[in-house]
Amino acid sequence: MNSGQRAHFRRILETLKQELSEDIDRTVHAMQDEATLFADPNDRATQESDIALELRNRDRERKLIKKIDETIGRIDKDDYGYCENCGVEIGLKRLEVRPTATLCIDCKTLDELREKQVAK
Ligand SMILES: [Zn+2]
Repeated sequence: MNSGQRAHFRRILETLKQELSEDIDRTVHAMQDEATLFADPNDRATQESDIALELRNRDRERKLIKKIDETIGRIDKDDYGYCENCGVEIGLKRLEVRPTATLCIDCKTLDELREKQVAK
């Protein structure tokens, strides 16, 4: 991967991170605004499951941000775009769609098949 390509993916990742951070901030504020509004127990129950869902989403977003940071670190070390498992180039097309991908499409497919079998 040349320096122009690295800069390109770095920009994509930084934009993604920015959007996620803003989304988390919005969620925090929305939850603070809603925190004491409902007196009705049914409304409260709904609200609590909404909050649980939001917390799960935020957890996922935080993990994704961490992954983005790690990915940017790999770009800096010129280690970006190679499959963690087999070492082949992941491919620019795949990275355009999934800039945080750490596995090539073959390893990813195998990985998902394995996960499905474990789930059964
Ligand atoms: Zn691979």
